[in-house]
Amino acid sequence: MDDCLFCKIAAGQIPADKVFEDDRALVFRDISPQAPTHLLAVPKKHYAAVHDIPPEEAGTLFGRLMTAVCAALRATGLDKGGYRLVVNSGETAGQTVPHLHIHVLGGRELSWPPG
Ligand code: 5GP
Ligand code: ZN
Repeated sequence: MDDCLFCKIAAGQIPADKVFEDDRALVFRDISPQAPTHLLAVPKKHYAAVHDIPPEEAGTLFGRLMTAVCAALRATGLDKGGYRLVVNSGETAGQTVPHLHIHVLGGRELSWPPG
C-alpha cells in the first residue's frame, strides 16, 4: 500500500522507535502512549483489518505476529508484569490507522471492561 502509514514505518520510510523486527513483523512504540509501555505490533504485509486476512493466511500471519509480540514482551520487561493486547478493528471499535496492528499496553493498572 503506497499511502499507508504503517506500511511506510515497516518499510523504514518513516522513523519509529523499534522494539523488535524480523522479516514478517515489526514492533514499535506508539507515538501517543496510553500506558507507560505502549507498543504496536504490525505485520509487514498490508491488511486493513482482521477480517481482511484470507482465512488460509490467518494462522501464519497471526503466528508470526505473536512471535514478534512475545519477543517484544521480553525485550521491554512487560513479561515481568501485567499487560494487555488489543486489536481495534473498524471505526466503531476506534481503529484510526487502517493497517492491522496489535496494541500492547502495560506498566499501569488497566481497567476492565474497556470503554
Ligand atoms: P488505532 O487507533 O488504529 O487502534 O491505533 C493507531 C495507533 O497508532 C494510535 O495509538 C496512535 O497513537 C498510533 N500512531 C499514529 N500515528 C503514528 C505514528 O506516526 N507513529 C507511531 N509510532 N504511532 C502512531
Ligand atoms: Zn499498510
